[in-house]
Amino acid sequence: MTTKELYTKGARIWVEHPVKVWEGATVTSDYRSGVLIVQLDDNKEIRQIKIPDEGRMPPLRNPSLLIGQNDLTSLSYLHEPAVLHNLKVRFCDRNAIYTYCGIVLVAINPYYDLPIYGDETIMAYRGQSMGDLDPHIFAVSEEAYTKLERERRDQSIIVSGESGAGKTVSAKYAMRYFAAVGGNASETQVERKVLASSPIMEAIGNAKTTRNDNSSRFGKFIEIHFDNQYRISGASMRTYLLEKSRVVYQSAGERNYHIFYQLCAGAATEKMPELQLDHQDTFHYLNQGGSPEIDGVDDYKTFRETKNALSTLGVTESEQRSMFTVLAAILHLGNVELTSDPDEMQLDNQDGAYIRPNDKHLSIVCSLLGVSKPELSRWLTHRRIASAHEVIVSRMDVQRAVFARDALAKRMYGKLFAWLVQAVNRALDTGNAKKHFIGVLDIYGFETFEINSFEQFCINYANEKLQQQFNSHVFKLEQDEYIKEEISWKMIDFYDNQPCIDLIEDRLGVLALLDEECRVPQGSDMGFVSKLHDKCSNYPHFLKPRFGSAAFIIKHFADIVEYQCGGFLEKNRDTVLEEQLECIKSATNCRLIHSMFAESPSDHSATLPPPSRRRTTPSVPLASLTQPPRRTSTQKQTVGAQFRQSLSALMATLSATTPHYVRCIKPNDTKQAFQFDAARAVNQLRACGVLETIRISAAGFPSRWLYQDFFYRYRLLCRFKEIDRGDIKKTCSSILQRYLKEPDKYQFGTTKIFFRAGQVAYLEKVRADL
Ligand code: ATP
Ligand code: MG
Repeated sequence: MTTKELYTKGARIWVEHPVKVWEGATVTSDYRSGVLIVQLDDNKEIRQIKIPDEGRMPPLRNPSLLIGQNDLTSLSYLHEPAVLHNLKVRFCDRNAIYTYCGIVLVAINPYYDLPIYGDETIMAYRGQSMGDLDPHIFAVSEEAYTKLERERRDQSIIVSGESGAGKTVSAKYAMRYFAAVGGNASETQVERKVLASSPIMEAIGNAKTTRNDNSSRFGKFIEIHFDNQYRISGASMRTYLLEKSRVVYQSAGERNYHIFYQLCAGAATEKMPELQLDHQDTFHYLNQGGSPEIDGVDDYKTFRETKNALSTLGVTESEQRSMFTVLAAILHLGNVELTSDPDEMQLDNQDGAYIRPNDKHLSIVCSLLGVSKPELSRWLTHRRIASAHEVIVSRMDVQRAVFARDALAKRMYGKLFAWLVQAVNRALDTGNAKKHFIGVLDIYGFETFEINSFEQFCINYANEKLQQQFNSHVFKLEQDEYIKEEISWKMIDFYDNQPCIDLIEDRLGVLALLDEECRVPQGSDMGFVSKLHDKCSNYPHFLKPRFGSAAFIIKHFADIVEYQCGGFLEKNRDTVLEEQLECIKSATNCRLIHSMFAESPSDHSATLPPPSRRRTTPSVPLASLTQPPRRTSTQKQTVGAQFRQSLSALMATLSATTPHYVRCIKPNDTKQAFQFDAARAVNQLRACGVLETIRISAAGFPSRWLYQDFFYRYRLLCRFKEIDRGDIKKTCSSILQRYLKEPDKYQFGTTKIFFRAGQVAYLEKVRADL
């Protein structure tokens, strides 16, 4: 079919639209070179479209037979407008939030409680194959569960999407499904514990942000273990990159972690006077966002739920008390006033930081934990500087002292978080050997903001790795299908993002240069960026920004992102003053502090990678990076290095499983039920790789019909005498020979006919014109 044949009068196409992204139009007269005349569907406006390049004609619309299909890859024209339109029709007109796109489940957040998650629905999906019922998170879970049994291979469900898209909700429904079908109600009720881990993790790791009232500020991978009878036998969890800055700072409209507000609400009622907690608004660490409440959430009620969940998981009453003590200590620490006011202090050093002798909050921190007040006071305002010859102690300026105090608070929270994850893991480890597992990954999707920093860099790096795994998996499945059906095919050229990962992971890549700069005595953010510009400009995925020199650009698979270097070093180092740490560790009233600080030298990831992977990065000058690294045990690992390690452990785990993918889409920014903002959706479909999957699919033979099905739909395109019911394949072949002149457009497999994109739509058109 030539362009001329396709773009004839009556052809239905898509034209670009500034808000709707794409809108439907109909060609009003046959295409003649260079110009296409169309009428817009909506306002009937007639429009001339200039076509400078016939290779890039406006996309054609799918025949209406296919609209609303529950698998996008069954569309005949597979392109962005088709995907978008199909999702929109399903979501807005049918309230269908789930759609398959090949092996991916696309889930659009309805912001509305649909009655599709009850036990009856779970039972309806039990034992069904994926194509038989409407697309659903339960269908994907069922698929993973049956494959576990059938393939005897571990499974994983990888959920991604931007903040507020519904990842955590989806992950919880998947876990609920496993608890229901693999539960063992009579015995240990381990599934009850697995479900109880959610409210705990949400209390300590979720917070209200401008995007999501219950935003997870960490990534997590939960493995649900099954025994030989495929009953749940336990579980374990790994977490990634908790956002610790939130402990000391919140932007407007945001909150700190839920647990703090729960505790303030609970302390009054639950008789915990020793914590000396007051209203949440009196704490600097809780009131900066100016947004103390969440619609529809009662912090006291959730406090009770958190406590119940902790008890279910065997965290004792006294351990809970200790937890609350540490949390209260963090809050009081944040209220310790560091001031330089020499008049008030009756002192003459104008630049130094001081704490008033009668500072109430300092006293409370010291009595809660049992640490020496003069010591803590001293080390909150002074630091030790070691030079080659001597050690001097000097008073910090206020800014530095506040920074150091906040770093201490963040460290304490990070350690508490890690300790709790361990406690949860201990409770979920039933001692039964795990025979099989299904992993559920709930991790932040690709992010681009106005200003992107170290956090976005890490998140996007993780997504780059996940995307690579996804691409190669999708690609391999395609290839396997072609081999199984014995059709000849060419290698599909798929986008491999290894070069971008190299830029980040190479010996002289972004992470290595960052670590290097963190080690040199006078290292600075600017020094880091100029090294990058120096050493990385040959990488095809690296760009220098046109203006300014305090940034660098990475071409990610999903978008081109400019990272501002400010804060990279500090965030990567994540240091706390050693003297402050020692002081806190000397606590005599709080045994929890000792457990928290006992295990590992690092706390960036809450759980440790397996011991064999645990290494510390040595301090090596740049010149010696080509030599094998030396190991020292005292040097603390950087955040970047640790993240890289836990990612690589995650990738190793995932690649030993059969993956299932869930891509969550946030349909609008105002949390309106069933509102679909096309422009926002397109961006996300691109960022989560759905459009790339479509491209891989479209580059091969995206439409597949069983011989029988094809025969029944299209036999009327045949002359009567050509129909041979004894040889359906032959009949199909004569239909195709007549209508599809180019032999490259289809292939006969053993059970199916494979079509290139657009061919079925064409046959549909012929059929309709008969
Ligand atoms: P973050 O990255 O910020 O953690 P997230 O992708 O985990 O975001 P969720 O917390 O799962 O997002 O979802 C945000 C909110 O959207 C939920 O609190 C809920 O109100 C709504 N929501 C998500 N999924 C569904 C669903 N399937 N049905 C109804 N409401 C939903
Ligand atoms: Mg979440």
